[in-house]
Amino acid sequence: MEQDNYSILYFILLMVFVCAVVTVFVRSVFQGLRGDPARQLLRQYGAVQRCPRAGCHTSNVAAARFCRRCGSALPPKMLSRA
Ligand SMILES: [Zn+2]
Repeated sequence: MEQDNYSILYFILLMVFVCAVVTVFVRSVFQGLRGDPARQLLRQYGAVQRCPRAGCHTSNVAAARFCRRCGSALPPKMLSRA
């Protein structure tokens, strides 16, 4: 009886985790459909630069000194465009 209760608890936790993963996945798909975030930033701020860190490559505004996602220092040469 007690073991069954724990099974239900684990099942609920699993469902919550699956829902969270699906939410993140669906959101990323919709972001992809809406267009490249770099282009959105370009329209909004005028210039963007991509994070040089492998596995990140997040679009940042050209004036940014650090990646908004991973915090890596961005190459200063791009700053001249801002
Ligand atoms: Zn980064």
